[in-house]
Formats: sequence, C-alpha cells, structure tokens
Amino acid sequence: MARDTQLGPSCQSCAAPLMRADDFGREASGVLRTDYCIYCYNKGAFTQPDITFDQMVEKVAVMMAKKRNMTDEAARAQTKAMLSGLKRWRVKKIEPMDS
Ligand SMILES: [Zn+2]
Repeated sequence: MARDTQLGPSCQSCAAPLMRADDFGREASGVLRTDYCIYCYNKGAFTQPDITFDQMVEKVAVMMAKKRNMTDEAARAQTKAMLSGLKRWRVKKIEPMDS
C-alpha cells in the first residue's frame, strides 16, 4: 500500500495525520474529536480561533519544508492545495460534537 494515500483520519485544520489517541483534539468534556488534532482543537475550541487560512498555510509549510527538505515555495504550494479541501477552511463555523 502506498504510504502517500492516507486513509486514516487527518486534522481538518492543519492536515496532520491523527494516529494516536494523543493526537486527537478534545472537547471540553474530554471527548475525543476525530476531525481535529490536539494542537488545533483542545478543550472544546480551536487553540488559535483567529488564525487565517494563509497563516495556517505558512505555519504548516514551514514544517513541511523542513521535514521533506523542500523549498519554501514548493512546500507552500503543496500545503495550500492540501489545506484548501479541509473542513475548517470550507465552512465558517464548526459545531461541538458533544451532545
Ligand atoms: Zn491540526
């Protein structure tokens, strides 16, 4: 199986793969979210509620450039394409999963 086609969940804000329970975001009640990582979503809210799409692209691109030894431009282009399909950047508001 190709390692690139990721079938597991990934963060719908920063595209980080969610592999361990510790990676998942949490509601205020402690319930895990399967759609956001702990760095983006914790205690029932986004950790950086005001971050813009461009700021998130920048943040993720810097990490990706380092990790994959890419140029900033290449990493930025790839990150932009990757993040633009994610839920956080497609809808304006998210609903807590607690009920
Ligand atoms: Zn995230």
